[in-house]
Amino acid sequence: MVDVAVVGLGPAGRALASRCAARGLSVLAVDPRPEAVWTPTYGLWVDELGPLPGTVVRAQAAEPELRARGVHPLGRGYAVLDNAALQAALPLEGVEVRTGRLDDAEVSALRGEARVVVDARGARPEGLSADDPAPMQTAYGIVVTEHDALPALQGAEALLMDWRTDWSAEDEPRQTPTFLYAIPVGQGRVLLEETCLAAAPALPVEELRVRLRRRLLARGVDPGAIDRPLDREIVRIPMRGRDRPPPDGVLAVGTAGRGGHRVTGYSVAHSLRRADEVARALAAGEPPAEVDPMDTAERIREVGLRALLRLDPRGTLELFEAFGRLPRERQRDFLSRDAGPAGLAGAMWGMFASMPAGARVELARASLGPPALLRR
Ligand SMILES: Cc1cc2nc3c(=O)[nH]c(=O)nc-3n(C[C@H](O)[C@H](O)[C@H](O)COP(=O)(O)OP(=O)(O)OC[C@H]3O[C@@H](n4cnc5c(N)ncnc54)[C@H](O)[C@@H]3O)c2cc1C
Repeated sequence: MVDVAVVGLGPAGRALASRCAARGLSVLAVDPRPEAVWTPTYGLWVDELGPLPGTVVRAQAAEPELRARGVHPLGRGYAVLDNAALQAALPLEGVEVRTGRLDDAEVSALRGEARVVVDARGARPEGLSADDPAPMQTAYGIVVTEHDALPALQGAEALLMDWRTDWSAEDEPRQTPTFLYAIPVGQGRVLLEETCLAAAPALPVEELRVRLRRRLLARGVDPGAIDRPLDREIVRIPMRGRDRPPPDGVLAVGTAGRGGHRVTGYSVAHSLRRADEVARALAAGEPPAEVDPMDTAERIREVGLRALLRLDPRGTLELFEAFGRLPRERQRDFLSRDAGPAGLAGAMWGMFASMPAGARVELARASLGPPALLRR
């Protein structure tokens, strides 16, 4: 028997396997491609890096902005991770690594080999199907040179979210809202990504590609840079994480364990932090605290997700305009997967209270209304 078996070596599983091994536990890890370097462009707030070395940061923006009706500097450094360096900072020395793809029964069967079995196979261990009905974040991004990105950034160092509607030719578009994420990724390059924060069914990537092109052309970006980018990225994130509980007797972490944020889709910072907590508990022989998939804070985030699924572009713009006006501490509570119910409720109330009356009615209808109100 080993102490811990970790199935899945994405950020959540690798961090946990590494932290457990560092604490002297015997660890078995299984992944179909254990040596692969992760490909997504992972971002987090600089203050969420914790004890990780500075080498894991590929690029940094000191003053990212949010744009809605106004311009809102967020006053918080944002980092894009160097995935190879992050993996090196989470070494698997002493870990028995197996190559394999396990189904639920095979994950359960590991209980015959390990005292604690952890499912870190991500949100969809069987792969994402095109007709997945779950609320999904989708994005289409291109990487261009800093020079080519200048007109898109419009004076900002980085745009966490730009909710202005220049993706549409109409003054008041009614379709599913999307925003521009524009972040330096190092080596003189910038990622420009059209993102649908959440939609059910998912907004097709092709629609995002068309919107990004229209938006960037409207801002004066060189068409050649748009059509022949240095790189491309496609994002698909199931916003509620895994659509079923883990196999019996198995602990789930990361997006397998509903460790993702229902409103932002982010999970990496939470998983890195939780890996330390879980490893500490296991090394002390204590059962690690389970993440309650529907605790009070998660219920509040679910209200936020429901609002995102129903609001039209104007309602979404007003919502994030209100977010931009929140005190910094409340902004953090809204964005953090680790925020408690009081901070989160304070943030949501603060946004609601500062919205114009008409937008408040829309938000209340969107958050609390029946599913029939779902946007098409
Ligand atoms: C393109 C993209 C960009 C993103 N950007 C950000 C971001 O900037 N910030 C952020 O916080 N989040 C981001 N996310 C969302 C989320 O945080 C990531 O999806 C993150 O990778 C989730 O980590 P995880 O370890 O829980 O799962 P995953 O990264 O999905 O890792 C799961 C691991 O399990 C393995 N596996 C899968 N099935 C099996 C199986 N059957 N048996 C064994 N192993 C299996 C996989 O090979 C993989 O190594 C992004 C997602 C995408 C797709």
